[in-house]
Amino acid sequence: RAKQLGKNNYQLYSVSKDIISYKNFSLEKDMRTAIEKEEFEVYFQPQVETSTGIIQGAEALIRWNHAEWGLVSPGEFIPLAEENHLIHQIGDWVIEHVCKQLRKWKDKGYTLRPIAINVSPIRFIKKGLVEFVSSMLNKYDIPAKYVELEITEGSMLKNEPVVLNTLKELRDLGISIAIDDFGTGHSSLTYIQQFSADTIKIDKSFIQDITAENSSGAAITSSVLHLARGMEMKVVAEGVEEYEQLEFLNQHECDEVQGYLFSKPVPLESFEQMLETGYLKPAKPRVCKVPCE
Ligand code: C2E
Ligand code: MG
Ligand code: MG
Ligand code: MG
Repeated sequence: RAKQLGKNNYQLYSVSKDIISYKNFSLEKDMRTAIEKEEFEVYFQPQVETSTGIIQGAEALIRWNHAEWGLVSPGEFIPLAEENHLIHQIGDWVIEHVCKQLRKWKDKGYTLRPIAINVSPIRFIKKGLVEFVSSMLNKYDIPAKYVELEITEGSMLKNEPVVLNTLKELRDLGISIAIDDFGTGHSSLTYIQQFSADTIKIDKSFIQDITAENSSGAAITSSVLHLARGMEMKVVAEGVEEYEQLEFLNQHECDEVQGYLFSKPVPLESFEQMLETGYLKPAKPRVCKVPCE
């Protein structure tokens, strides 16, 4: 019986593996025309001031409305786009889309907030990124301070001179730089300091470990916060889902938080409603294990 079950499990596994490779095949094929067909969309996830919930900015996160597969997350198609080099076109599309959106917000009279855009490490080391960003700022007449580019910690460890040079040119333009998924690349903050980033984004794996027993999440988070303050870098905590995590981050003077506790990434219309209110409240109340005082 166990053997039979094992066999069935194997069949189930191999069927789902086939579906995944079929899906990847079809995504990769359709990616070439997705821009023309206007299937990409940008969602926004607010970044709020830890102590007040005031919206300080947002991260732009791409989504693909695929005819057959529905809403496809970037975790699924960005790696494929990096393999087939369509990431350059897709990445440029996101940058232009965000600049265009900033222009629309400015025309509508919104107070502008910086929008963070993820840049693939592959795009980062290719020539022309600085010129492209600069041309978009000019085309839509947007001050550079409203654009922040996120680069993962891991990708800064490779191609050092090229990366350092590109970062310098971007900062000379007035663009801010955020180090994404900080903590996962095993570099130190002192190493990161030479890239003169403006913002450190602590990876969600550490944030979600803050309250877990016997975990180093809390210790790592508080030491990153302490060191970043000394280096005058802003810190954003990613993946904040629980009130206790927020309390910890507030006690340790983390500047901003981004996570489901305040909001998931949302489409444009919902984000504009948030901008009109200007602040967000945590979606969950404080959980009291002992009666709250
Ligand atoms: P990332 O840049 O680290 O973005 C944060 C991811 O964490 C987002 O996933 C966001 O939805 C998710 N997240 C935010 N708060 C929470 C939370 O409280 N709990 C949990 N469990 N997750 C949370 P998403 O949108 O699926 O994006 C995944 C990754 O895809 C991004 O990670 C980024 O590396 C990449 N990506 C997204 N948009 C773009 C883009 O326009 N260009 C490039 N090159 N990469 C992108
Ligand atoms: Mg920000
Ligand atoms: Mg990011
Ligand atoms: Mg991240």
